[in-house]
Order: sequence, then C-alpha cells, then structure tokens
Amino acid sequence: MRAARLYQFNQPLKIEEVPDPIITNPTDVIVKIGGAGVCHTDLHLIQGMWDHIVSTALPYTIGHENAGWVHQVGSGVTTVKVGDPVIVHPVASCGYCLSCRSGEDMHCPELKFPGLTVDGGYAEYLKTSDRALIPLPKGVLPENVAPFADAGITAYRAVRKAAPLAKPGTKALMIGMGGLGHIGLQVMRELGNADIITLDIDKDRLNMSLDLGATHAVEANDGAISQVRSLTNEVGADIIIDFVGTDQTHNDSLQMLRKGGHYFVVGYGGTVTVPSIDIINNEFSIIGSLVGNYNELYELMELHARGKVKLHSSKYSLDEANDVLKMLEEGKINGRAVLVP
Ligand SMILES: [Zn+2]
Ligand SMILES: [Zn+2]
Repeated sequence: MRAARLYQFNQPLKIEEVPDPIITNPTDVIVKIGGAGVCHTDLHLIQGMWDHIVSTALPYTIGHENAGWVHQVGSGVTTVKVGDPVIVHPVASCGYCLSCRSGEDMHCPELKFPGLTVDGGYAEYLKTSDRALIPLPKGVLPENVAPFADAGITAYRAVRKAAPLAKPGTKALMIGMGGLGHIGLQVMRELGNADIITLDIDKDRLNMSLDLGATHAVEANDGAISQVRSLTNEVGADIIIDFVGTDQTHNDSLQMLRKGGHYFVVGYGGTVTVPSIDIINNEFSIIGSLVGNYNELYELMELHARGKVKLHSSKYSLDEANDVLKMLEEGKINGRAVLVP
C-alpha cells in the first residue's frame, strides 16, 4: 500500500510503497482509510516536539484522525464486520485497566496511538483494535468526518467540561476559529447557554464564527484585550477556551479572565506563566484537556448526524500530504484538510 512516512524530523514525509498491515491479535481490525485529517499535531510530530514523550522509532506513518471501512477483522472481533463504515477513536486501549474501566481511554498505560506511537492513517490501510471503532450513523461518509476523530473530540471534551459553567448571562471566549475552534464553537452553542465571543487573526474565520452562532467576533490585534473586556462589562470572560496555546494567547487569556473564571487550555506549544498570587487572588482555574474518550466521540457523531455540528473540510490526495502540511503551517487551511488515499 501507499503511505506517507516520517523518516527525519523537519524533513518532508516520504510517500512510498510499504507492506499492508496484518492481523496479529484476535481483537485487531484493519481499516481501509476513507479519510485522514491533517492536524497541527502532525506538524509538531514532524518538528520532533513529541519525541521526548512518545520516542517512536523512525520511520513510521503519521495520521491520527482516521475514518474508513472495516477491511479485515481478527478472530475475536464481534462488534464490527467487513464493510462497516467506522470512525476510529485515536487510541487502541487495553480495556482492562482502571482508566479503561472508567471510560478514560486516553489515560490507559497500555495504549497504542496510531499516528504517534505506531503506524497511522496517512496510508491506504490502518491497524487498530475493535475497542476503538464507532460505526458511523446512516448516511455519514468516512471522508466527511475523519477530523472528528481528534480535532472533533478534543474540542468536544473541552467544551463539555465547560458547558455546565456556561449558564445564561455568562460570557465564553473562544480563541482560534480553525479546525478545533469552529467545532468547539458549535458544541458550545448546542450544550451551553453563554454569550460566545470568538477571537482570531483571520476575518474569514471570524465571519464564519458569526454564521455558526458566535455573539461577537473580535479580531486578534493590539486592541483585542480591551475589546473583550468591554464586551464583558470590564470584568472579563467567565470561561475561556484556548484552541491556540501560544505564549501570547496564554498571557492574553489571563488578562481577559474574570475573577473565579475557568481557563481551558486545548492548543499547545507555549508556556503558561502566572504568578501564584494572581491565581489565589482571582481564584482562577486553569484546566488541561487531552483528546477525548470513546463516549465523547460517540456523542459528537450523534450531534453531527442530527446536523447540529458541521465540519468545514477540504479534500486532498495522499500524494499531496507535504503540500497540505505546508499550507496548514502557513495558516492557509480554513476548517480542516482531509487526505483521501
Ligand atoms: Zn489531531
Ligand atoms: Zn487500559
């Protein structure tokens, strides 16, 4: 099969012919890829930012936002059959540890993470386990939903944590209206009751956010902090969800957060620096959010099937992987790019 593989950090992926994955465990499933989302995490993997965490031996195939059709199943698989359209939860977890039993697949110490720790979905076929698969609701095509597998649940989990705080009359600021942000905004609109303020550097993305339910859209420039403060009666936002995660968005967020406010960090790469006296005096809560669990992906697919959460995506061939990654790095992708092998 064809696959786009990472041979060396900070170098283009090599698109080449490799052996098809094979079933080795009774619970293994081979998925024929219908679409693989292109994510900022893929850029970070290529930059080597994850190397000290996952230390995966090179070369390997990246791509962790996958959907497709069941192609082959192990002898113990009973929950899906060949030909079923599925979205792939990003990790193949053990099912037996305390984390798995409490539903938190991402915390499983035995997890395999295709695209990060083993071969992923920038390829024609992907190996995962039966536990990771969610059959797609009727009428939903794999290539149209692949980015929900990571961008989608990551946004969903953060907003689902924030939604009980988003009471009528509260203000929620959402920073970054790219792949994750535009999904998170729709989820906030569906699950919460806050007035939603969006912040982005790009006017098109801000206009899209108004179409998707934002109350106000603020352009990220020198006047942004005072504009957000004025939209929040000078007290700051009750909730901030930061889908960008740079030093600048971290610093700015802490200046736009209300006393007693909750700051959800979803995007990453920067460093949150805050004097402890400010945390105490303002009773700030700073909350991390990592991908999401199986049930959260299931819930998101149900919302999508009902037309409540739409995905803006554009499709490219697998051979265009390096060009698409470059466009993503340059901020030229609106919504999400999907590779269709
Ligand atoms: Zn991703
Ligand atoms: Zn486990």
